[in-house]
Amino acid sequence: TVKGNYAVRCAYYSSDMKTRLENNHVLLAEVQAGLERDEFIYYLQPKCNLNTGKIVGLESLVRWKHPEKGIVAPGYFIPVMESNGLITELDMKVWEQVCQTLQDWIKSGHKVIPISVNVSSVDIYAIDVVEHFKNLVRKYGLPPEYVELEITESAYVEEYKVITSVAEALRNAGFTVLMDDFGSGYSSLNMLKDVNVDVLKIDMKFLKMDENTMDKGMGILEAVTRMANIMGLRMIAEGVETEDQINYLLNMGCIYGQGYFFYKPLPVEEIKVLLNDENNVDYRGIQARKIEH
Ligand code: C2E
Ligand code: MG
Ligand code: MG
Ligand code: MG
Repeated sequence: TVKGNYAVRCAYYSSDMKTRLENNHVLLAEVQAGLERDEFIYYLQPKCNLNTGKIVGLESLVRWKHPEKGIVAPGYFIPVMESNGLITELDMKVWEQVCQTLQDWIKSGHKVIPISVNVSSVDIYAIDVVEHFKNLVRKYGLPPEYVELEITESAYVEEYKVITSVAEALRNAGFTVLMDDFGSGYSSLNMLKDVNVDVLKIDMKFLKMDENTMDKGMGILEAVTRMANIMGLRMIAEGVETEDQINYLLNMGCIYGQGYFFYKPLPVEEIKVLLNDENNVDYRGIQARKIEH
């Protein structure tokens, strides 16, 4: 009967939820211990000019240097940290380390390129992100242009007004704001004119289409790229893995990308070696593409 089915489903869901909660509980305790032992570090992944392969910027991506598991990617621990609020403690540590690195580079006489950090929407509700970043650049003596903030499209969609006004305040303070995972959620092209972002990061799902979804995805990507260019927004594609994808993006008018084709996220020391050769770098950074009418 329907009722019987319902009972079975409930039993199934509740036992599933119970084990999930227990697992989360264990993971959370583990994560907390990891934070106390300072086991979280970050890698840097270059953003590149698709024409030249030169590095135009860097993104920090957190990693857990786990005593038994080795280097653990954030998919494993970020969701549980977000649901419990611990993420903000972690993020503040990462941001601080990134600012420290930028300061070291400046002090050692290197030319510097911007580093973006990921900001969870949880952080925006938990702390005054604008004040926090202002204090950080003051503390480390950094021009705010070197610190960029990635906020996901889904954060914008959830709380459009809050996030937009935070982004506006950040930009007024000289920071660059990137919309991460653009196209994965449901923001409309119309929304883009009011969102206060400097750079759109096109979600990698647009490059990971199968044959069935390809045409549709390409149509959308083409429209987005055109619109972004007309609006003078800067743009970068995520998840670039093949030469075909590069040609496709260039044809469409997207001239920057980030992905395994160029570089995987790498330990800071390896990035330093790369940046020691100025030929690897394009210090102009990410530019808007001029559209001739
Ligand atoms: P994201 O910010 O959109 O970062 C891009 C993700 O794509 C990274 O995964 C990166 O390693 C991966 N990636 C880069 N190029 C390629 C490629 O060519 N192919 C494929 N398949 N993947 C590529 P990662 O490092 O595992 O991070 C996953 C997500 O975790 C990030 O997505 C971001 O939302 C979040 N995250 C990472 N670091 C932090 C952090 O410090 N704080 C917060 N709050 N979130 C973070
Ligand atoms: Mg990101
Ligand atoms: Mg992304
Ligand atoms: Mg993502």
